[in-house]
Amino acid sequence: MRLWLRVICNTTRDMTPSLVLMFENTVMLIINLCDGFQRQASVAKLKFIHCNELFFTEANVDAANGLIGFYCSAINAGKFASGFKCNIYGPKGIKRFSENVSFNDHMLMVWTFKEFECSNIECTANKAVKMIPILLKAEGRNDAVSYIIDPVAFPPKFKGKEAKQMGLSVAQIKELIAGKNVTLNETTITPESMFNTSIKPTGALVLCVPHFDYIPSLFTNKELLSKHSDIGLVYHIAPYEVLSNTDYIDFVGKIAYKAMHVMDCKELNDDTAPRYYSQIELKALHQCNSRLFPDFPLKPLHIKDEKKREILVDEYKKRGVGVMFSELGRDYDFWPKFDVSKQSCLPGFHQPLVEEEKAVKAVSGTINSSEKLKAIHKLCETVVATRKFHNEPFIAVLGTAAQNPLKYRCVSSIYMNIPGSLEGKVPRSNTKEYFSNSFGIILDAGEGSYGQIVDHFSDMEIVDCIIENLQCIFISHHHTDHMLGIAKLIKESDLVIIKKYGKEIAKTKPLYVIIPDNMKIMMVDLLEMGAILLSERLRVIISESISADTGAYYVKANKNPIPQKEFSKEEAEKMVEELYKSDNAKIKEMWDYFGKMMCIKRFHTYQTNHCSGSHGVFIEGKDWKIAYTGDTFPCLTVQNFTRNVDLLIHECTFSDDMKRMDDDIRHTSLAQCIGIYDKISPWRMLLTHFSNKTKKIVNVSDEHLKRNIIISFDHLQFHLSDAEWASQLHPLLEALISNDG
Ligand SMILES: [Zn+2]
Ligand SMILES: [Zn+2]
Repeated sequence: MRLWLRVICNTTRDMTPSLVLMFENTVMLIINLCDGFQRQASVAKLKFIHCNELFFTEANVDAANGLIGFYCSAINAGKFASGFKCNIYGPKGIKRFSENVSFNDHMLMVWTFKEFECSNIECTANKAVKMIPILLKAEGRNDAVSYIIDPVAFPPKFKGKEAKQMGLSVAQIKELIAGKNVTLNETTITPESMFNTSIKPTGALVLCVPHFDYIPSLFTNKELLSKHSDIGLVYHIAPYEVLSNTDYIDFVGKIAYKAMHVMDCKELNDDTAPRYYSQIELKALHQCNSRLFPDFPLKPLHIKDEKKREILVDEYKKRGVGVMFSELGRDYDFWPKFDVSKQSCLPGFHQPLVEEEKAVKAVSGTINSSEKLKAIHKLCETVVATRKFHNEPFIAVLGTAAQNPLKYRCVSSIYMNIPGSLEGKVPRSNTKEYFSNSFGIILDAGEGSYGQIVDHFSDMEIVDCIIENLQCIFISHHHTDHMLGIAKLIKESDLVIIKKYGKEIAKTKPLYVIIPDNMKIMMVDLLEMGAILLSERLRVIISESISADTGAYYVKANKNPIPQKEFSKEEAEKMVEELYKSDNAKIKEMWDYFGKMMCIKRFHTYQTNHCSGSHGVFIEGKDWKIAYTGDTFPCLTVQNFTRNVDLLIHECTFSDDMKRMDDDIRHTSLAQCIGIYDKISPWRMLLTHFSNKTKKIVNVSDEHLKRNIIISFDHLQFHLSDAEWASQLHPLLEALISNDG
């Protein structure tokens, strides 16, 4: 028997602690689900068959934003096809937080919630452990819950085989089991000697102290003070100010002096790249073309702040307390006891540098293997675009997967950057100076979008500039692969702005969020709950209100949409002109703002043939037009309102060899994209949102290449003018990347 905590996510650049309790190699329960958990769990090959209980330390984005991602993973694993029963425990507010992201009709219907109003209510996960909540309060802050994981002691076992060998009779054995002494060959045999001693159970404490203000509540917690003696492992989730506070060290040293203390804290953790495997892949892609794929500075793991670690270890040591630091993918055993030698780390979570060298070498080998590939490589590295654009957009594809995030691909998200009114202020480059003088728009924000921005730009100073200058998040529709990451993005953006300008000025910096009508309740709920820090800066615009065509084609789109109308170019243009005569003050304010800041002339939506409320977006700059569809079946409304755009970003869920179910009619296939291209005649077309059956690359036909249709990859980046030649790289990528393995 063995119980241990496995660290699936810890405090890294973009994630927050999420732990699973493992019992005999199965996931028994989960403590916290952060944004990005789903992807990490799939890399760790976690199965949730026996896991029906979720515990949260806080009711906020950091602790619980990955809840629905977990739900999707579990549902996709097939076990819970009908009615996924789950118990959710946490502080006050966890029910509302969980439910507000659960607007997909069937979700959470059979879930039960327990919000703790005091400590020490034993809630049992199952037979092997008891969970004891420790409620911490702080003035003006939401409650936080820590958990004592208390393993149930297994009863001592009678040594039956030994008894037989000794020659004890059945009657004597019965006496011994009943607790009486027996005599054999004039020797007294005690019951104690005939039982395997029950191993004294040691438990664990997951101690969540989000802020200094919670400390008084911690020091006076009677339950913790009375239950501490059997704790063998303390997992601290707390900021450095708390962990290094001498009173705190004295306190935890006293209550769990025999325990090993594991610290999970931003300043102390290794600066690990949580998705290093996709970065190794990218190292190869960068080698293949340095303009379309960014270079990742893959570094060996390093400790963020060695000095702080040393000080902390010393302080705890003085009190005879052992300290370790949280590591991604690490197992921390605590039952029967904490055991350093048993600690292991999940494969796939740590960064072997040799793989990087191997990947880079393989690329040069492939490029040099044929004259044709060598020529493609050279051409794409040196080609100069003939078309020039003003206020030229830079596009970084953050995620290309449909449905669920995969090992190598994140779900839908695109980052678009434009210099806008600051054009020419600093030279265009991938530097901090440039990104602090330009603006950003996110097109869809599936779970983990923030993490993808972190990976793409690597340098946290640049990431902060990008997040600070984000002006708009457009969500095409309410499906989880397009919107789960929105709360995390807004939260990070608020944090950066508050840190830089202070709360009062931060409130005056608007962030536009464009969502379909059916996401409105969720957004209002997030605001009311305080999950979004600065409600004042959030401007929510409903997609339906900026749609050029108000025809109710897809009200109940799942089945039998009302047939769309086809409009001529002139008719469609007239409708768009009418839309811009709108006297809605909120919408006019947005258009004015986009015009002033980003030099955007037009920004409106059009319905798509996918689900209730699904919309695509049209953005017009000084001398370019870009349209993004979100999910859709080949659609007349898309055709009406995106004719002759410079870049059409279209979904492409299915490869041509994939079988389509009846249910799949709401998406587009690779072959259908050719027809769409021919009807809409964009200057260039970019395909994204590929089925989960595609591990890494979609292989296209000559017909696609003839039309310069570009296949996107996670982290593909280009300036609009580079779209001129980007598709020409594809044969080289096909030679290089395989979906095997
Ligand atoms: Zn989708
Ligand atoms: Zn969808």
